[in-house]
Amino acid sequence: MNLPLDTRVIILLLGIGYLFTLILIIAYEHKHIKNLTANTFFLAKCTQTIAWFCMILRGGTLEFLSITFANSLLFIGYALEIIALLGLKHALHSKTKMIYLVLTLLSIIGFQLIFIFYNKENVRIAYCSFVTAAIYIPVYRIVFGKALTPLMRIIGSMYLLVAAASLVRGIISLTSSTFSTSFYTPGTYQLISLLSIFIFTNLGSIGFILLMKEKVDQELIHFASYDDLTGTLNRRTFTENAKQYLINYAKKGQSLSYILFDIDNFKGINDTFGHHIGDQVLQDLTMKIKQHLDKDDLFGRYGGDEFGILMPGKNVIESTKKAERIKQSLNDDINHSLPVTYTISMGIITIIPKHSTQLEMLYTNCDKALYKAKSNGRNGIFRGQFEEHHEVS
Ligand code: GH3
Ligand code: MG
Repeated sequence: MNLPLDTRVIILLLGIGYLFTLILIIAYEHKHIKNLTANTFFLAKCTQTIAWFCMILRGGTLEFLSITFANSLLFIGYALEIIALLGLKHALHSKTKMIYLVLTLLSIIGFQLIFIFYNKENVRIAYCSFVTAAIYIPVYRIVFGKALTPLMRIIGSMYLLVAAASLVRGIISLTSSTFSTSFYTPGTYQLISLLSIFIFTNLGSIGFILLMKEKVDQELIHFASYDDLTGTLNRRTFTENAKQYLINYAKKGQSLSYILFDIDNFKGINDTFGHHIGDQVLQDLTMKIKQHLDKDDLFGRYGGDEFGILMPGKNVIESTKKAERIKQSLNDDINHSLPVTYTISMGIITIIPKHSTQLEMLYTNCDKALYKAKSNGRNGIFRGQFEEHHEVS
């Protein structure tokens, strides 16, 4: 491929691309809550924009600016970009930040020393390439880590690809005396490299913005699905998921069990010890119950001190055992940091759902069982029967 390219024009285009990214981020941030990760990315792009504009000065009287200043800024910009990227997945420990600070400072000092004492282009290129690779490599955490989204893995892989290309560039510039890896020497290598950088920087910015949106979406879904105080599912999400289980288990023809429980005399706890102690009781209770749940169990707060547990696949014996275990552990495992002890009453029902089975009926029947448990003296379990009533209008 012989496509004549002017390096400065491409670098200028890169700089303009960066400027547009900055404008888009400013426009986004103007209306949204500012956060540290977005600000770090913004700073990274500012630094890189200045660096790329300085690169255009290569060959002029201010050449030293295009070499030492621009490359130092690039090191800072790349490090900030990776810090922002890792920060999106909370994959950033304060130790990592410190390592980046030291790595960037040492890289800048090292580059100045090369410029002063051994100013050969291939050595400079190799040095910059190895530093870039070193800065990018920790991105492997968002490629190979656990619980990552496909978007995160793809974007992380892109950065790793650049790290690998940088390593190769560094090795070639040190070992080959005939092949130039300079972006200022016209040729196929220059064409491919500069176009790749152009595409990568634009994809990187789009990718980061998409990742931020993905994170915000996940947070919104979480807030919309869980109860703030206890971390259990809220009523709407619990009900939606429970209905789906009823449909699935009606198809399979297998049993599922349902527990409805409520704290005994909770009003008294609030009145005697204050609402904040009541809140701590709710948190203590849910934390203890979570330890008894299986992977598929649903645990949700209906409101106040009333909670539901849906146990797919559990029959009468298994669900009774689990309810007994929960009751026993609440009675035995007393939290001494609370000024009060508490008990709960449980209603429990096991059914093999039919296609017509309504969650509302299951709830109503279980509520009756819970009422019986209360009237039997509280701190107990009452197994109810499922009766489907058909309202006649
Ligand atoms: P029972 O044994 O019959 O259940 O008696 P109870 O006193 O527990 O009565 P009930 O379940 O009706 O009381 C629920 C109380 O829960 C009433 C309300 O003030 C309190 N409550 C509801 N939501 C919260 C909350 O988020 N935090 C706290 N601390 N209290 C709450
Ligand atoms: Mg209660």
